[in-house]
Amino acid sequence: MKALAAFKYYEATTVKDAVSVLKQYPGKAKVYAGGVDMIDWMKKRYMPTPQVLVNIKKIPGLNKIEKQSDGVHIGPTVTLAQLVDDSTIPMLGEAAKKGPAPNLRTQATVGGNLCQNVWCWYYRWPEWNCYRKGGPVCFAPPGRNAFHAIMEQKVCNATVPGDVSVALAALNASIKIEGGEGSKTVPIKDFFIVLGTVLKPDEIVTDIVVPEVPSKGVFLKSRTRSAIDFATASVALATTSKGTTVALGGVAPIIPTGTPDEMKAAVDKATPLSENKYKISVVKSLLKQAGA
Ligand SMILES: Cc1cc2nc3c(=O)[nH]c(=O)nc-3n(C[C@H](O)[C@H](O)[C@H](O)COP(=O)(O)OP(=O)(O)OC[C@H]3O[C@@H](n4cnc5c(N)ncnc54)[C@H](O)[C@@H]3O)c2cc1C
Ligand code: SF4
Repeated sequence: MKALAAFKYYEATTVKDAVSVLKQYPGKAKVYAGGVDMIDWMKKRYMPTPQVLVNIKKIPGLNKIEKQSDGVHIGPTVTLAQLVDDSTIPMLGEAAKKGPAPNLRTQATVGGNLCQNVWCWYYRWPEWNCYRKGGPVCFAPPGRNAFHAIMEQKVCNATVPGDVSVALAALNASIKIEGGEGSKTVPIKDFFIVLGTVLKPDEIVTDIVVPEVPSKGVFLKSRTRSAIDFATASVALATTSKGTTVALGGVAPIIPTGTPDEMKAAVDKATPLSENKYKISVVKSLLKQAGA
């Protein structure tokens, strides 16, 4: 592993301040939260190193979990450890607990869990220039693909890595975003797109709103190493006064979300690769355990 390349480091004190620095270096500056994903990327250099890091963790008010009249607000710099300790929505704590190891959870943030790169093992090698890096090919279909996607593949067969993000999708959360062109709110189901997220280079996730605490909330995850590993598949299920929503993790480059019947039908129409057909049975079993 190489030493880090040189970069400028900026500690923002307000969201406006952070957005103005991102705007000043179009496409060359990146938000820095817990740094768990970011530093790994910069050390391994599988993507060009950002020239400027904008730390948002010192911005007051972004690290709170608060019940308000329109739902539960979760700040983007709330850590996964905070989620584990908070009892407001237990399924979020469960998802965080099944995520990275305890030492990483004290650093890793909810915003970072949503915005981290979607990746696969080919993506994380600097010399493998695949679609997701702007290249001409996806290496997964003809290669090793046991942990890749089984649905919604389009051009890329990687899977969304964030467990808390999958739980937030079942909770029908909305994502508040601030950027150079103002603010917007995006339902989480529209946040992930074919090769990334809807975030523009000068935009920051500033709030995540869960509209209703579920009467039933479940997060189940299957992984190769039970102590610490990314999901081979996960199922989040939340029941509120509006009905039941299911979100699937570890199976697609976006987070498939819908009613239990819609998700069962989606699994029946899955398009697995040569080595990952087993994921269909895993998801079906998790759906059954979740009571979908
Ligand atoms: C060994 C290991 C195991 C892991 N296992 C799991 C696992 O099992 N399950 C799981 O869910 N995760 C896992 N992770 C991933 C980890 O949860 C994420 O890397 C972490 O949540 C990222 O948060 P962060 O605050 O450190 O983000 P950073 O590394 O600071 O940022 C990640 C990305 O998000 C962007 N970003 C961060 N915050 C914002 C924001 N508010 N607005 C806009 N952009 C933003 C950054 O620019 C960067 O591109 C693992 C990581 C490691 C290293
Ligand atoms: S699955 Fe996606 S990230 Fe992996 S090689 Fe294919 S295009 Fe790249």
